[in-house]
Amino acid sequence: MSNDNGTSAIQRRGLMLVLSSPSGAGKTTLSRQLLDNDNQIRLSVSCTTRQKRPGERDGVDYRFVDPPTFRGMIERREFLEYAEVFGNYYGTPRGPVDEILGAGMDVLFDIDWQGTQQLRDKGRADLVTVFILPPSTRDLEKRLLTRAQDSKDTVALRMMKAADEMSHWAEYDYVVVNSDIGTSLTSLKAILTAERLKRERQVGLSVFVKGLREGR
Ligand code: 5GP
Repeated sequence: MSNDNGTSAIQRRGLMLVLSSPSGAGKTTLSRQLLDNDNQIRLSVSCTTRQKRPGERDGVDYRFVDPPTFRGMIERREFLEYAEVFGNYYGTPRGPVDEILGAGMDVLFDIDWQGTQQLRDKGRADLVTVFILPPSTRDLEKRLLTRAQDSKDTVALRMMKAADEMSHWAEYDYVVVNSDIGTSLTSLKAILTAERLKRERQVGLSVFVKGLREGR
C-alpha cells in the first residue's frame, strides 16, 4: 500500500492522471490495480446515461443517470468535460475532482480522447495523459468477446470504434502497450512517481529547503 516516493514530508500539488484506450485494452483492470496500490490517488466517478452492466455498482463504477438529469447537469455547468460515446453520454462531475485536488491528492480519470482534449484545452498544468494500447487486434477482439457483457452488435461497433480511438495515441504524454498487466502497472506507477517529483508540483519545497539550510 506504500507509495512513498521520498517526498511524503513535502507538500505537493495534486495532479490529474488521464487513462484512455479503446475498450478491451485492459484500462479498467489497470485503473483498479493502480487505485488499490496507491493511497494518494482517487478515481473520478463519471456520470453516464448508458445502461448498467452486470456487476457494476451505481456510485462506484459510474453514477447512472437518465438523459434529462444529464442535460440538467450540462446546463448547470456541473461537468469538467463531457462527451457522447457509443450513443450514450459520459461526463466528469467537477465537484469531486476539486475536492480531491484540494485535499492534495491525485485524481485518476478513465475517459475517452474527446474528454481528454477538453481537459487539455483548458490548459491545466496538473494534467498527465496516458494512452493504453492493446498488444494486437486479435487480443483486443478476444478481450471484448470474452467480456461478453455487451451484445454482439455492440462488440462489432466497439471494434470499429477502437480503430478510431487508437488514432489519437499521439495526443498523449505517455503510451503504454498492455501486453502484460503487471508490467503495465509498473510503468504506470513509474509515470506517476516521476510526475509527482516534478519540481513545480512539490509546492512545499522552498519551506523544506529553508528548514534544511537553517539546520532544522
Ligand atoms: P464504457 O461504457 O465501456 O464504460 O466506457 C466507454 C468509453 O467512455 C470508455 O472509453 C471510457 O473511457 C469513456 N468514458 C467513461 N467516462 C467518461 C467521461 O466521464 N467522459 C468521457 N469523455 N469519456 C468517458
